[in-house]
Amino acid sequence: MSYDDYLAGDPVIITVAPTGGVHGKESHPDLPERPAEIAETAAACEEAGASVVHLHARRENGERSFDRERFQELTTAVRDATDGMIVQHSTGGTGAPLAARREPLRTDPPPEMASLDMGPLNRYAHLTSENTRAGVDALAEEMADRRIVPEIEAFNPGHLNEVDRLLATGPDLPGRTYVNCILGGGTLTIPSPRNLQNMVDNLPDGATFTVLATGPHQLPLTTMAIVLGGHVRVGFEDNLYYRAGERAVSNAQLVARARRIAEELNRPVATPAEARELLELPSR
Ligand code: ZN
Repeated sequence: MSYDDYLAGDPVIITVAPTGGVHGKESHPDLPERPAEIAETAAACEEAGASVVHLHARRENGERSFDRERFQELTTAVRDATDGMIVQHSTGGTGAPLAARREPLRTDPPPEMASLDMGPLNRYAHLTSENTRAGVDALAEEMADRRIVPEIEAFNPGHLNEVDRLLATGPDLPGRTYVNCILGGGTLTIPSPRNLQNMVDNLPDGATFTVLATGPHQLPLTTMAIVLGGHVRVGFEDNLYYRAGERAVSNAQLVARARRIAEELNRPVATPAEARELLELPSR
């Protein structure tokens, strides 16, 4: 992907990550936690221009859950509330055992996409995600078996080595290679335009990408992704603010802004059907 792809004017896929698994309503009263709330948010974000929704399930008390039943309840609610949005389940997990992290892949039907972390991550003072190669490969195998297209999470530039390794030695994964270039604090890529360009330059041949940048970096670096021919992710999992000192009122407000920027830059926003085509998702 490159500036030439931007000039070609292909549609931009907007992914919304409305809830995450770390902060909850204590950080923003309108952060959706329950299945009905997340489904309502997903529908509003679809209306605003998002074609993919990245989901985490939570327990009744708001804590993160990997239980298949919780994911089933959530994914069913989201499918019922939306028109055709692509559902992506998170398999990322700080401190969760591999057995738990497989569970989001086992709903009926399985999600069309799921996140696949490429390696270790530290965040805040207390969160770490180990992501051994054996664990990454086990999740990739299960995604291949269930025809689930991974959103490959590169937390930093070194994880692009692991993407190359996965493609060379891993299972035959469905879909187009789709890498999420992640920038932020902790062991994420140091957020800067130069570092994003560097990650994009090091993507495998034929891959496409999206950009996740935390907090104040979400707006500038997702805008840069649009200019580099890539795709964008916005939402309360990664950023709670509309601008410095002003919280966003909703996930849909962040989606609507991403859409306006893309359209001003002469890239239309992908419908779910167009996103399925761009990502070469298997038909279900
Ligand atoms: Zn997530």
